[in-house]
Amino acid sequence: MIIIGAGGHGLSLAYHLVKKGVKGIILVEQSRIGYGSSSRNASRFRYHFYSKENIEFALEGIKYLISQKKELKYNPLIYKTGYLWLLHDENLIESFKKLHSLWSSYSIGGKFLECREFEFLKVNRTCYFAPQDGAFHHDYILYSYYEEIKDKVDIKYAKVSKILHNNGKITGIKLESGEEIKDNEVIVTAGAWSGELLKTANINLPIYPDRKEIFITEDVKFEIKPLVIDFKREIYFSHTLKGEIIGGIEKEDIGFKEFSISFLDSIEYLKRLREVVKGIEGIGILRGWSGYYEMTPDHSHVMGYGNDWPEGLFIDAGYSGHGMMFAPYAGKIMADLIADNKKNRFIQIFSPDRFKEEKLIEEKMVI
Ligand SMILES: Cc1cc2nc3c(=O)[nH]c(=O)nc-3n(C[C@H](O)[C@H](O)[C@H](O)COP(=O)(O)OP(=O)(O)OC[C@H]3O[C@@H](n4cnc5c(N)ncnc54)[C@H](O)[C@@H]3O)c2cc1C
Repeated sequence: MIIIGAGGHGLSLAYHLVKKGVKGIILVEQSRIGYGSSSRNASRFRYHFYSKENIEFALEGIKYLISQKKELKYNPLIYKTGYLWLLHDENLIESFKKLHSLWSSYSIGGKFLECREFEFLKVNRTCYFAPQDGAFHHDYILYSYYEEIKDKVDIKYAKVSKILHNNGKITGIKLESGEEIKDNEVIVTAGAWSGELLKTANINLPIYPDRKEIFITEDVKFEIKPLVIDFKREIYFSHTLKGEIIGGIEKEDIGFKEFSISFLDSIEYLKRLREVVKGIEGIGILRGWSGYYEMTPDHSHVMGYGNDWPEGLFIDAGYSGHGMMFAPYAGKIMADLIADNKKNRFIQIFSPDRFKEEKLIEEKMVI
């Protein structure tokens, strides 16, 4: 079988297939391991979503992420930090009251408190704190999977230009060089590029890139343990273990743009950060980078296959900015589907057919 894309999801799938003893796997990557979002993210995990489907997926996904710690070669340093939302108006507080009751029904309710309880904050208003959420190190997950599969999987560094099919069945892929590789199973784990790739098989599944910038400051005393989300200033931030402040501005930038950063955006981010955090007047930005959120119309991912797709074609993509934490679990249940024909209930729920059937899983909590 051929897996397209060596990000967290392609590597996790390859790892779980190898674990089952599947042979003859070809993993095709256009650039390098983790070239896409999987090496460009903020490495946070959270249970707190808007839709019950994503909450339930997170409950299983995070349980599996934590359990993988024992199995992985490198320690992913999973730790609980909490998420802290700054609620600047009554409408937001009302929305969070509804979310709180939904989250409490899954035993993941947080609490409303005065923001001043967090001494690093300059603002004084209502906050919502969810202590269950946390952080991990994405690169240790990627490279643990890579190390395990590198001698058991045929990894090809080439760009796939077309998915080939005939008479309703997958027949292989064509590379940009013109070379064709024959196989009757192709799995698309190409992140933000997945929509473009599926188009080459005449499948219209709207997965598209939304470019996000992310910055790291010099290190200062470690105080900002939770990931803080300030809706008013449209920023998020937290401390890394080293004491740098990592975060970004919420700004839409649709399309395949360069992986660069804007100097003006970095200054704007720092300005907004200084408005909310005490004692960081003198600090500067050390570095920054950008990556794509791989968006879908309802901001929930797609996995499995479409009922009218060529036989042998599968997908696991479109995580809309929260897919690194799900890579271990998604790879496991996709491997169960492909190798053992075991269809986990989430494969049904997050099916690509939901867009045609208008059964959208509206996810409003994209961070
Ligand atoms: C700034 C930022 C912050 C984020 N923060 C978080 C977070 O805190 N927590 C979290 O869980 N998630 C976060 N995410 C989202 C997360 O990074 C992604 O959802 C996840 O990494 C997607 O993994 P993937 O394997 O599906 O895709 P990717 O990692 O993008 O991998 C896809 C791979 O496919 C390859 N490819 C594409 N087209 C082709 C082709 N034609 N031929 C061959 N290879 C191809 C690409 O080169 C790439 O390596 C963040 C993302 C960004 C950008």
